[in-house]
Amino acid sequence: MAKGNLTYWRENSFYINPTSRCINDCLFCVRQFGEGVFGFNLVLDEDPSTEELVMEIEETWKPEFNDVAIVGFGEPLLNLEGTIAAVRKMRELSTVPIRMNTNGQALLLYPSRNVAQELADAGLDRIQISLNAHDSETYLRLCQPKLGRTAYDSILEFAMKCKPLMRVELSAVDIPGVDIEACRGIAERMGVEFRVRIFKGPDGALNGILRTLTSG
Ligand code: SF4
Repeated sequence: MAKGNLTYWRENSFYINPTSRCINDCLFCVRQFGEGVFGFNLVLDEDPSTEELVMEIEETWKPEFNDVAIVGFGEPLLNLEGTIAAVRKMRELSTVPIRMNTNGQALLLYPSRNVAQELADAGLDRIQISLNAHDSETYLRLCQPKLGRTAYDSILEFAMKCKPLMRVELSAVDIPGVDIEACRGIAERMGVEFRVRIFKGPDGALNGILRTLTSG
């Protein structure tokens, strides 16, 4: 059994945590500053099986929740089977729209699968894809993707694959060194939504991030 919380919640929002692993190491990530959010420990010692995840969803879901999100303490697509099973289970339990946050590198992770279609078939309504940078160089510095230089373009391509299937939103964290208006322009040209996210790290961390982004 995976230790750490597989689901968590605040007010009427219900969140599902399929994994705490990630293939990025974003300088602004909440993982840099703690072990969870809203008082829940979200660090898992291993990914849950699909059965464990579905059982935890069944046990902790309450009908008064009116917002469901697959937002793990890592990249949900790394536990793709768990994520798909979680979306299916939520679709059984409720008609509440289901959204998911991802770093959007599905095409590199699963080149032979149509992940966008699989998520749509399971019942995902909305995908929030972290663009986080106005160009690939800034993305490399800010997000440090293990999959390398091609990650940024693959994110844009994945977003276009999702677009005919569900609501798509690109996002970027508002931190120095990221051209938010340029990110917004990319989303507009692609015909998808755009959201600016607030940096949630401690005061003072932004200076270190800016130094990394502008060094060398
Ligand atoms: S992609 Fe998301 S979970 Fe992964 S390091 Fe970046 S912010 Fe954190």
